[in-house]
Amino acid sequence: MESERDVDALIIGAGPAGSTAGALLALAGVETLIVESEPFPRFHVGESLLPHTIPLLDRLGVHETVRDLPHTRRKDGASFVTHDGSRHVAYWFADAFPPAIPHAYQVRRDEFDAALLANAVRCGAQLLSGWRATVPQWDGRRITGVRLRDPEGREQFVRCRVTLDASGQASFLASRMGWRFPYPRHRKSAAVAHFKGAWLPPGREAGNITIALAEGGWFWLIPFADDTVSVGAVLDVERWRDLAGSPESVFRAAVEATPEVARRLAAAAAITPFAAVQNFSYRVLQIGGDGFCCLGDAAGFLDPVFSTGVFLATTTAAAAAQDVSEALARHGRVDGADLGPTIALTRSLHRLFFSFIRAYYDPHFLAFFFNPHDAFRIPEAIVSLLAADVLRPGRWRRTTRFRALLALAQAQRWSARLGRPIVAPLAVSPAGRSRG
Ligand SMILES: Cc1cc2nc3c(=O)[nH]c(=O)nc-3n(C[C@H](O)[C@H](O)[C@H](O)COP(=O)(O)OP(=O)(O)OC[C@H]3O[C@@H](n4cnc5c(N)ncnc54)[C@H](O)[C@@H]3O)c2cc1C
Repeated sequence: MESERDVDALIIGAGPAGSTAGALLALAGVETLIVESEPFPRFHVGESLLPHTIPLLDRLGVHETVRDLPHTRRKDGASFVTHDGSRHVAYWFADAFPPAIPHAYQVRRDEFDAALLANAVRCGAQLLSGWRATVPQWDGRRITGVRLRDPEGREQFVRCRVTLDASGQASFLASRMGWRFPYPRHRKSAAVAHFKGAWLPPGREAGNITIALAEGGWFWLIPFADDTVSVGAVLDVERWRDLAGSPESVFRAAVEATPEVARRLAAAAAITPFAAVQNFSYRVLQIGGDGFCCLGDAAGFLDPVFSTGVFLATTTAAAAAQDVSEALARHGRVDGADLGPTIALTRSLHRLFFSFIRAYYDPHFLAFFFNPHDAFRIPEAIVSLLAADVLRPGRWRRTTRFRALLALAQAQRWSARLGRPIVAPLAVSPAGRSRG
């Protein structure tokens, strides 16, 4: 027979979103249960953090723990290089609008996620590890509980005042409710492995994430403390189909077609199996309501090019923890209206980052990106966005300069049509064909 229990807050998933919400709710005195289907530590993509994730790590009390993990490496900026290495630009976080946070970290997600989860448990959250959330229970428009399955297949019903869906790309609620839709013009897949022996740039740039343009996609190279490197190929689905094969053969064919990455990996050997993350771009139409809220990837995901995922996951989780604890203290339940601030923040961060990401796939914008004009302090505006300095007041002033760059790209597009581009266009297009 199915067993039952009651908690105040049920969190589905123990990635960065679930563990952040779990820790902050438990600290606020809310009885919190996290259910995670995968035994930790487990592999996960998403290894490059942004500077403005650090204040939240401080608030959670895990900054030093994360900094001292065996594979964590300090990064001072982000480097971009064309497919053949002929053009290169490095953006340094110290150059952002003041007060800048001058660095961030590369982390191995098995270690990072386990550290955040251990912290949530230390803060008082309960954990069911290896348990899967299976069915949400609705009472009209309100979620009143969730059915779980334990590792032996036994069922338990958990009645709760609020369900926080932090299930990542699985999007537990949105998938079941028909709220999750792919972006028809932005369809990407990725193949990834860790390597030993890759070439790294000298000096301060060695710790940076490098984004290398490729035909129909791009690569990330994320160095860890022991000189192993995470390398991922993000490809338009049409390009992936053209290269046809296993994640490893698609990856190797993409490397072969990208001289700069081939050079950097010439003496390198893969030390992990190749993993694929397929069709990872989707939007979620409803992210909150009576008794529930979707956090992090469960609320939508576009593209990893600017490493915004963990920032979004932890930031939206912290906002939800505040809304939930205040609502429970106020009237003992959580209505959709109580989650208004979290929903508005999630939507506005998606709008901002997604416009930046879409611009990256525009070759006219890229031409400026590789050749940032010093006028109007545009490089600082770009670095501030790359650092995710998007929460402090004054965001409008910073993003206005970014919009100025988008306007310049538009001018470049018109002048290119007349055969006289302002900046020489790049010879490679990462957008691929599904952009339409
Ligand atoms: C190719 C690629 C590269 C990326 N690179 C970066 C990067 O460099 N930097 C960055 O910041 N972000 C990156 N991201 C994004 C980043 O991986 C995610 O945004 C981030 O992990 C989201 O955190 P989360 O807590 O929302 O979800 P997740 O980290 O995915 O955690 C969700 C958890 O929920 C669990 N779960 C799922 N379903 C259930 C269920 N039914 N019951 C119980 N548990 C469940 C899962 O096992 C998982 O542990 C990348 C994404 C992709 C696709």
